[in-house]
Amino acid sequence: MADKPEIPNYLPIFINALNEHGASAERIDTFRQYWEAHPSDAPNVPCPHRYVAGKAGSLIPASGNDDKESFRCDQCGAEIVVNDAAMRHALEGKDRTND
Ligand SMILES: [Zn+2]
Repeated sequence: MADKPEIPNYLPIFINALNEHGASAERIDTFRQYWEAHPSDAPNVPCPHRYVAGKAGSLIPASGNDDKESFRCDQCGAEIVVNDAAMRHALEGKDRTND
C-alpha cells in the first residue's frame, strides 16, 4: 500500500524519545502494543509522552509541509523529529536498550 502514510515506521523514533524521557520499559511496551494496533491511515498520531502518562494528545506535523519531518504534540508541546538522522539515532539506541 504505497499510498498509505508510513507512520508505523516512526515507532523506533517514538520509543527512543520515551527512553530518553525516562519512561519505564513496561510503559514503553504498552505504547508499542498500542502503536502496532493503530491503523496506519488514522488521522491523528498519539503523543507517546502523553500516552504513557495515560493522557490524550495528538502529534501534528510541525514542519507545515508534506515531508512531515517533525511532529509537535498539541497538548504538551513535545516536538519529535522523524528524519533519517533521527531514525538512525533511534535504531542505534534501540540496540542498547531493547534486549
Ligand atoms: Zn505530548
